[in-house]
Order: sequence, then structure tokens, then C-alpha cells
Amino acid sequence: MPSWFDRAAALDLPTRPFIDGRSVAAHTDTTFDSVGPRDGRVVASFPACGSDDVDRAVRAGRAAFDDGRWRDLAPAGRKHVLLRFAELVEQHRDELALLETLDTGKPIGDTTSVDAPSVATTLRWYAEVADKLYGEVAPTGPDALATITREPVGVVAAIVPWNYPLIITAWKLGPALITGNSVIVKPAEQSPMATLRLAALAAEAGLPDGVLNVLPGEGATGAWLAGHADVDKLTFTGSTATGRKVLEASAASNLKGVSLELGGKSPQVVFADAPDLDAAAEAIAWGIFYNQGQTCHAGSRLVVDERIADELVAKVSELGAGLLPGDPLEAGTQLGAMVSREQLERVVGYLELAEAEGATRPLGEPREAVAPVAGGCYLAPTVLDHVPEGARIGREEIFGPVLSVHRFDGSEAEAVRIANATEYGLAGAVWSADHGRAERVARGIRAGAVYINSFDVGDITVPHGGYGSSGFGGRDKSLHAVDQYTELKTTWRQL
Ligand code: NAD
Repeated sequence: MPSWFDRAAALDLPTRPFIDGRSVAAHTDTTFDSVGPRDGRVVASFPACGSDDVDRAVRAGRAAFDDGRWRDLAPAGRKHVLLRFAELVEQHRDELALLETLDTGKPIGDTTSVDAPSVATTLRWYAEVADKLYGEVAPTGPDALATITREPVGVVAAIVPWNYPLIITAWKLGPALITGNSVIVKPAEQSPMATLRLAALAAEAGLPDGVLNVLPGEGATGAWLAGHADVDKLTFTGSTATGRKVLEASAASNLKGVSLELGGKSPQVVFADAPDLDAAAEAIAWGIFYNQGQTCHAGSRLVVDERIADELVAKVSELGAGLLPGDPLEAGTQLGAMVSREQLERVVGYLELAEAEGATRPLGEPREAVAPVAGGCYLAPTVLDHVPEGARIGREEIFGPVLSVHRFDGSEAEAVRIANATEYGLAGAVWSADHGRAERVARGIRAGAVYINSFDVGDITVPHGGYGSSGFGGRDKSLHAVDQYTELKTTWRQL
């Protein structure tokens, strides 16, 4: 089999918008380059879709919705199209994985084994939901019959970030499509390629024209969508700062419903009686370093009983030292590149701040020491210890392979207080052999997902989303995601 390098060189790169069932020339003349983080070279140039292109996509989505070509199919019909879509994703796994790796710098071993397969799993799971959603009969008095049914919201805009482009897009497409909506996806400017290819596969699977559209573009394209008067729903995953903007855009336009999945600063709380410190260290290292730390629910804060802190920090640091970034196109690479020079500089800025804020650094190579591919954006796993209370590095989302360590006195109250000392609430973990304590602390952590003696397990069957500044307006994944894309209708019959 040719190497990933040869296959990447031979790849057909999708760059044009996908509107009304086909890849089309954009109306805009403005373009932007996607710079590959692997080596800092331009991967491809894309049209920065403007208001004209956004209008075209919204019109296509609206026409498809209004004439019922998709929503009026029997649910089993929609299910068959999604199952076929999942099958095609599986058949094109390597191509999708390569596009994702070229865009984002993720290791090809991850995109082939995690990202691309997860799309097929998600689509298949929601396909099976299509013909198993029932309505309700309300418990009214004897003189009435009131039914409560779900209807699709209409034209959905999905604005997606660069950290898990395929996975997050699938989380939105699955529930939005099976419930009969039209969707317009605006991938992040750093990572549009795999999503553009996904749209073509959906069309090949039999999804009617106009039901799925993909617009490459920068923030302005997302802003056009967020402020569009004929978009019925906006599902957004990205930073908290942009989340605020799209919420304002909704308020200033048609009050479209908005669901926000935003940032995180998730704590891993470890008590001195943690059942297996090696297992905890492993989960803590992978929980922050996987995907180069660019994971919204990454366990970026270690809250540890001071009696075992030295030992645990040493274990995590040892594991981190063995996880040096490598070439994303080498099959054995475990950590790849950070998504962009800008993101790398942002994280390096936080490392400088850490010094100013008085943290120590038991792990972390200087950035110049890590360069598996010249010109690329690489950073070694880093641990910051003795982070002072209230320090910015302990509160703000760094979104890189950087763990901040916070020591506590061993009491549950102190652990919960430190765990909750952040505006975010996406995830958390507690490690303790005392079931009562683990349960109490899990209840005390204000977050959408809490793990006991584990971290980052779970699958499409459970919801994903957060408390506080981590977002609101529904959840991705699981049956709960269907709520994002449906309206409830009561039909009342007086007997
Ligand atoms: P970002 O907010 O910069 O960009 C996200 C998307 O919004 C991109 O497609 C971007 O082009 C678009 N955008 C930018 N400005 C816009 C505007 N004014 N109006 C509309 N759209 C606009 O975020 P990012 O840097 O791509 O992603 C990283 C962030 O995403 C992190 O904060 C991370 O925690 C968060 N994230 C959250 C989750 C979750 O489920 N909670 C999952 C993944 C990532």
C-alpha cells in the first residue's frame, strides 16, 4: 500500500462550496488559504463565502424544506439514506481521515481510527432513531384529545470549530437530518475539507438536493448565517467569545433558536485514596494531551490532594515526556501538530504568563526542541505545578497540551470549591476508592459530565454539553440532541 505521504499527494482536495446537491463556483471573489499545520505550507485556497453564497445556500435549504422532499419521506426512508451515508463514510474512511489530518495536524492514526469511524457510528445511530420517535398523548380530561408531536424546525445553520471537525459535524447532522431539517454547515476556516467531502457523500447516498449545504468561509460567513432572517435554528460549537456574538446576531435578526457548545476548563479531582494512581495518571495524561490538548472537555486542571501531589505529578510528567509530537502523516505518531501558528502562539503566550504568575514547570520542552517537520506547529506536553489560586492559567481555557496543577488539603469541600472555581462546566472527574465520597464530589462538580475513577469514556448514547459559560440551549449526542432540531406541536381536539 502507498504511504500516507503518497496518498496525501495524490488526493483530490475539495475546496468549492456545496450548495443544492452539488459542488459549485462561489459568487465571491474573496479567498482564504488553509495553512497545513504539519509543515506550515498552504494546503489549499478556498472561497470565503459571502452574503450572496449564504443566501443561495439558505434558499436551497428553504426550498428543500418547503416542498417536503426530505421531511415528508417516511421516517424509514430517511433512515435508509442515512444508513447508506454511513456506509459511504466507512468506504471513504481513509480519504476523509487524510483530509482531516492535512487540515488539522491530527495524527493519521487518530483520524483513521477515531474521527472518521465515529462519523459512521453517529450517522448509523441516528438513522436508527428515525423510525423510533413517538409522539405523546397528553393526560387531558375525558372531553379532549391532545397530541404532542415533533416537527422539524426548518433550516438549520451549524457553525463548527476546527478541533474535531468531522465528529462535531456528525453530531449535528445526525439528529438534524433524521428529523427532516435542511442543514447548512459552516466549517471552521482551518478545517473545511473533510466536511465538503462529507456533503458529496451524502448526496451520493441519496440525500435530496438542498438538504445539506456546506459553505467554506471565515468568521464573516458564520456571522452572515447567524444573522440571516430565514435561518430557523443555529447550532454552534466554538469559543465562548464567538458564542456571545452569534447569540447577539440571533437577537438582532429573527430570534432563531441558538444552541451553544463552548469552552471548558475541566477538573480532575484526585484524592489520596484513589484506587490506582497509575491508572489515574494515564487517564490524566491522555485527558489533557490527546489531540494536542485541543479538546473542549480536556481535563486541563488537576486538583490533587497535597499528600500525593508530588507522586502523581511525577507520574503524569513521565507519561507526558513519552508523548512527544511526531509527523501527523507517520502511522505511529501519537501526538500531532497544533492546528495553526496562531493557536500555537496563543498557547506559548500562556506558558509565558505561567512564569509571570509563579507556576513551576515540571514538564515541558522548549518549543524549538520539538520540530518533527520543519515549519510545522508543534508543542510538547507541558505540566504547570503550584498554580496560585486565581491565576489566569488556572481559570482560562488554554486549548493546548498544558495541564495546570492545583493542590488541596484533602477535604471534599476544598476539592469541590477548587473544581468549581471556573466560569466553565463541561466535564470533570473524581478519583477515590470511597464510593460515598466519589458520589458526593461528583454531585458537587457543576458540569455536564462527571467521570468517577475514569475520564473521557462514553459514546454517542450520552449527551454532551455544559453548565455556565460552557454553553446552553440543548445538548449534542444521544436522544436529547433531537430536542435541538424539533419543535413540539400540540394538536387539541375537543370531543
Ligand atoms: P471559534 O469560536 O473561533 O470558531 C468557531 C466557528 O465560529 C468557526 O467556524 C468560525 O469561523 C466561526 N466564527 C468565527 N467568528 C464568527 C462570528 N462572528 N459569527 C459566526 N461564526 C463565527 O472557535 P475555534 O477556535 O474554532 O474552536 C475552539 C473553541 O471551540 C474552544 O473554545 C473550544 O473549547 C470550543 N469547543 C467546544 C466544544 C463543545 O462541545 N463544547 C467542542 C469543540 C470545541
